[in-house]
Amino acid sequence: MRVTVVGSGTASLRLRRRHSCVVVETGAEVLVFDLGFRAVRGLRRAGVHPVEVDRVFLTHFHGDHTADLIPFLLHRRFGRRSGDKTPVRGSLTVTGPEPFPGFWRSSVRSLNGEAPEVLALPSAAEKGAEVPLKLPGASLSWAPAKHRPESIAYRLESGGRTLVITGDTEYAESVVALSRGAHAALVDCSFPDERPVPGHLTPHGVARLASEAGVERVVLTHIGPQAERLDLAREVARGYSGEVLVAEDGLRFEV
Ligand SMILES: [Zn+2]
Ligand SMILES: [Zn+2]
Repeated sequence: MRVTVVGSGTASLRLRRRHSCVVVETGAEVLVFDLGFRAVRGLRRAGVHPVEVDRVFLTHFHGDHTADLIPFLLHRRFGRRSGDKTPVRGSLTVTGPEPFPGFWRSSVRSLNGEAPEVLALPSAAEKGAEVPLKLPGASLSWAPAKHRPESIAYRLESGGRTLVITGDTEYAESVVALSRGAHAALVDCSFPDERPVPGHLTPHGVARLASEAGVERVVLTHIGPQAERLDLAREVARGYSGEVLVAEDGLRFEV
């Protein structure tokens, strides 16, 4: 899997960090997780045109994860210049946690673009992953995250490799269980340990989660302005012996 962190920031808008968005290329499909503000521009900068994307998955409905949903759909329909050779993939599926249909109707009411297939994932399970969703070349499971009532984290498996995307969350046993043995986890690291905010992780929480789950490598993302000033990799390494990467917009890595 080739992973590109398109947006590594929080709702506190900073020029150097877009809102949340991650692209995963499995070889069979192009998957996007969350579409925060300026994600479409970031996708283009990463060389990914929205028409190439097969599936969008949302972790929850906060604006810093969903604001570019409409620009994304409009860009799929109208964003191709004449003569553009970017191959158009098949239909698009947009997937999110329950109650997804209500969110979808209110968000795209005025959309003058493509109407994709919409799929809702139940997030009511207390612990552990639901039955995996079979995708071409990959399988996806999910579990409740501790942030908003609908919040879920995702676990993607492809070619014997495993990636976890926590979305926004604080420490949660359900996310530890979902992350068990993952080769890489893209983890919320919004705030410093001295200034924790409910619903998010700090370096200490990241270390605890990643250690308990036995994750091989963590990539810190959703980095707020206060956390930005810290040596986050070093802080996480105090309680975690695996590899730590600090995401920037455009960071690309293989899993
Ligand atoms: Zn967020
Ligand atoms: Zn959020």
